[in-house]
Amino acid sequence: MTLPVSRDYPQSLADQLDRVLAQMPEPSGGPAVGQLEHALAEAFHVPHAIAVSSGTEALHAALSACGIGQGDEVLVPALSVVMTVAPLAALGATPVFVDSEPATLDIDYDDAARKITPRTRAILPVHLWGRMGDPAALTAFASEHDLVIIEDAAQAVGSSRDERAAGTIGAIGCFSMKDGKIVWSGEGGFLLTDRRDLAEHAVAFRSHWQPAPSGQASLSRLATNSRLAAPLAAIALANVHRLEELVLLRRAQTRHLLHTLRPVPGLTVLAPAADEHWNAFSPLLRVDLPGARTFTEHLAKQGVPNSTGSFRLVPCDTRPMFPRQDRPCRGAAQILDRTLAILLTERDTVATLDRYAAVITREATTWAG
Ligand SMILES: *Cc1c(COP(=O)(O)O)cnc(C)c1O
Repeated sequence: MTLPVSRDYPQSLADQLDRVLAQMPEPSGGPAVGQLEHALAEAFHVPHAIAVSSGTEALHAALSACGIGQGDEVLVPALSVVMTVAPLAALGATPVFVDSEPATLDIDYDDAARKITPRTRAILPVHLWGRMGDPAALTAFASEHDLVIIEDAAQAVGSSRDERAAGTIGAIGCFSMKDGKIVWSGEGGFLLTDRRDLAEHAVAFRSHWQPAPSGQASLSRLATNSRLAAPLAAIALANVHRLEELVLLRRAQTRHLLHTLRPVPGLTVLAPAADEHWNAFSPLLRVDLPGARTFTEHLAKQGVPNSTGSFRLVPCDTRPMFPRQDRPCRGAAQILDRTLAILLTERDTVATLDRYAAVITREATTWAG
């Protein structure tokens, strides 16, 4: 077994960085961010890609561009991370957590429909672990209730379903390039949109409203600084050039690990839907062992990093900073209590994956809860 790793990459990364460093300091920022945005727009076949300093800031700019603010309610899966929710709370909007279906990980649209009020403005699906819900169900729900769709596709670079790429279904798709995501630059993020007005708003928002959107004056509104620094844009550009390779590598890593684990009792591979072209962000297994969550925490201590065990990922509606809702999201809780989602990076070799598989097999076989 060998993994598909590119050889010329370190050189192209060093070349990109050298070029940018030779131009610094450059108060205007130089051309690196524009080049990255051009490459992103081409890679995703969209008219506008805007680079920002993080995935959180991509969501912040996107929500602002869609006019989300004080008093607005935004439907967001409880099966998400706080980084999804913090930007909408920062804009004065209220997150309304919706449940997910344990069998598919998709949004529970019956629950979402129950939670619609006259203040509901947007739905913010989160493609956690790169898995995508049904795009047709999402767009039908949004149009029935007149909601704008903003996607959190931070983990979903390279995923598509029914021929629709994650991050290109809604009005805006938001991505992170923090190390740990498939396309990385240390820190960073970007958003994609078809709409010029939303793109112009995001460009203004990330840089204290300059340049301002068409027809508006520069600095006529308060915004923030969420610009991506040129050296990080250079790293990101080198990685966007091998985006397909990075996704193929992740798929090969996940396939190898899941294949090695298949016969372990108490662990079942969570397969994507038939029409889903999954980026394989995290090898996913359902844990049917007693004390499943304690088992994932135990694996983390044994050197197998994973979402629930290493990061204590819990449904967002149970976090202390949000007021308790009438209906707890039980599906999301069930998913997070029972899913082993292994964290990978492109550095993980066959030897690393085999070590993870050996530890998981050994611990699952002897686990009594
Ligand atoms: C990483 C991540 C974010 C936040 O991205 P940052 O670049 O860390 O700000 C948001 N949502 C999800 C699902 C993520 O995985």
